[in-house]
Amino acid sequence: MNVPAIRVTNLSFQYTDHTPALYEVSFEVQPGERIALIGPNGAGKSTLLCHLNGILGMGSRECAIEIDGVPVLASRLAEIRQRVGLVFQDPDDQLFCATIFDDVAFGPLNMRLPADEVKRRVREALHCVGLEGYETRSAYHLSGGEKKRVSLATVVSMDVDILAFDEPSSNLDPKSRRALIHWLQRCGKTLLIATHDLDMAYESTDRVLVLNQGRLIRDGATREVLQDREFLEAAGLELPLRFHSA
Ligand code: ADP
Repeated sequence: MNVPAIRVTNLSFQYTDHTPALYEVSFEVQPGERIALIGPNGAGKSTLLCHLNGILGMGSRECAIEIDGVPVLASRLAEIRQRVGLVFQDPDDQLFCATIFDDVAFGPLNMRLPADEVKRRVREALHCVGLEGYETRSAYHLSGGEKKRVSLATVVSMDVDILAFDEPSSNLDPKSRRALIHWLQRCGKTLLIATHDLDMAYESTDRVLVLNQGRLIRDGATREVLQDREFLEAAGLELPLRFHSA
């Protein structure tokens, strides 16, 4: 039997101020699956993504998550982070180096890749997000959409198998959003994409997980879930724009 790329078993979490964020969430993701994680604000999407590479959840005694069969434990974080790349919603949480080259090279350098390979990865990742030639610029001086694209490049350069994105299309202009959708369709990675952009989810994923108030309330095929108006509205969501006139 295949080892799932992601296995989450009865994951519950509350923040240190006791705000409850996730209740007994369980699901599995097979290698190569492309999944949208949807739900209204505060549903627990970002909290769940932050558990996948151990940014959150390291305090709990029981391990509720495995990545490629590896438990997400403090002692295994280096291995986990070679498997899972996470793109935060806010690029300012992702970009902290003096130049864009350094930001995009950060992951490959941490993987101790040779300098030539690091340069090649940076060049390719920037090409992939349409920012060739931006290497020496500083992220502080970029527009919100450009910063977002650099933050995408920081995980593309790592060439990990599992990518978790928090609102990857927010702030992107239509052309960059379209390029992102094409990339998501073609990249061949295991994807978990938290988003309110249900049209992007419709085009670039096969399966949808719906969170509401920290609970997983639906797990189904994208084409089914995203056309279920009654269900979406009850969950505080809407049909994708493409179905609005229907
Ligand atoms: P989503 O990404 O679906 O909008 P979040 O995962 O950000 O939802 O939030 C889930 C719940 O956890 C919300 O009630 C939110 O207010 C709360 N929350 C998020 N971050 C923190 C934090 N750092 N401290 C306390 N509560 C938080």
